[in-house]
Amino acid sequence: MKEISSEEFEKEVIKGGKVVLDFYSTECPPCEALAPKFEGLAKLYGNDIKFVKMFRQQNKPLAEKLGIKSSPTLVFFDNGVQQGEILSGGIKRSDIIRQLDALLPEARVKEIKALIKPSISEFDVIILGAGPGGLTAGLYLCQAKINTVLIDIALPGGHVSTTHEVSNYPGFIDPQPGYLLSHNMSEQTKLCGTVYKVAVDVTNIDLEKKEVVIDEFETVKAKKIIIATGTSPNLMGIPGEKELKGKGISYCATCDAKYYGDKEVVIIGGGNSAVEEADFISKFASKITMVHQFDSFTANKQAQEKLFANPKISTLFEHEPRSFVREGNTIITEVEDLKTKNIKKIKSDGVFVFIGMKPNIDLFREKLTLDNWGYIKTDEDMRTNLDGVYAVGDVISKKYRQITTAVADGTIAAIAIAKEIE
Ligand SMILES: Cc1cc2nc3c(=O)[nH]c(=O)nc-3n(C[C@H](O)[C@H](O)[C@H](O)COP(=O)(O)OP(=O)(O)OC[C@H]3O[C@@H](n4cnc5c(N)ncnc54)[C@H](O)[C@@H]3O)c2cc1C
Repeated sequence: MKEISSEEFEKEVIKGGKVVLDFYSTECPPCEALAPKFEGLAKLYGNDIKFVKMFRQQNKPLAEKLGIKSSPTLVFFDNGVQQGEILSGGIKRSDIIRQLDALLPEARVKEIKALIKPSISEFDVIILGAGPGGLTAGLYLCQAKINTVLIDIALPGGHVSTTHEVSNYPGFIDPQPGYLLSHNMSEQTKLCGTVYKVAVDVTNIDLEKKEVVIDEFETVKAKKIIIATGTSPNLMGIPGEKELKGKGISYCATCDAKYYGDKEVVIIGGGNSAVEEADFISKFASKITMVHQFDSFTANKQAQEKLFANPKISTLFEHEPRSFVREGNTIITEVEDLKTKNIKKIKSDGVFVFIGMKPNIDLFREKLTLDNWGYIKTDEDMRTNLDGVYAVGDVISKKYRQITTAVADGTIAAIAIAKEIE
């Protein structure tokens, strides 16, 4: 694969026919995650499409001119004209393939696809999910010299990477930015030697055979599996939500609050996440209306006191959202007064939903014993009902879901497995 500079951009890219250009940086974990996928695809599509890369820091003016704001970023060209979407961050192999295929005739795509050879790799332990639970298990297993692979559909870090500040993880006097805490956890585990397969599509999981298929062609086999897939936000399930998700309705304050500088926002929920994130969002938004179904918040007292002292935040207790409608640049949230049954309309620039979480078990739920809420039941060593299958962190049935408890579960599972494998 050719490395080019901005001086060669005209010749190699604009006049280069069909081209995919990778803007990369050093000390960039998502760039490291992309590199093997990009190289693998260059071998497959390289006769038809030119694969080139450019060091972003040394070619800043060109990167800025093309609107590149982060690394890695892939830009696709056909005869000098930019094509399709710009891909950046945790780029999946399937997303790149979709864009490459769009540059070629259908018949040629078929020929290329026929060249894809399935591959098999073998490890002692597969960890599914690289949040605090999975990363900690990876660290302990690696230090016990057990050949371990961490597989994640996103980049490593889990929820912590999108948490604004963490003030209750021991060992730090000051609150830590979530992205930094998760970055350090991930680097520690990676440096030890655990293999990472991240930002992949997990196509199939067979817990009994201990086999995971990623990106459709690679089968990863192991003696044991640790499930550390965490949770995802619950959706409201009301009209307009699906259509406006990511287009004005958000489930992540760290990701989206910055877009609401001096704007008005509705927050739905009343637990710890809703109340703590309202405080963070108020650093940007000019006005926040909190909508909660009960007559008081269920968040911890300290967070509630902070919220009630915040002049930007007002509350609408005993109200429940019924629908979302876009009107121009604003979103109308229709809420029902649960006492009077009257419907009110709240106009805002955006809506944040924080109404709890659900376990990520869709790909493998059938054979596992679950609790009434769908979380995986484990014993004190984190074993599930399936032989050789462990589960740790937020995905398991337990009372308190915190970074410290996920880290503790990961530790226990890894030590138990290390003893068994010895
Ligand atoms: C907004 C918010 C703020 C929080 N603040 C704090 C705090 O201040 N302090 C604190 O202690 N806790 C906090 N928590 C809770 C804490 O983040 C979690 O308890 C912790 O992250 C759980 O770790 P985990 O490894 O179990 O799961 P997660 O962090 O959820 O990680 C799970 C990983 O699994 C991956 N995954 C999902 N499905 C699959 C699949 N099929 N295959 C492979 N990988 C998959 C995900 O991409 C993710 O990377 C907060 C949570 C939220 C949502």
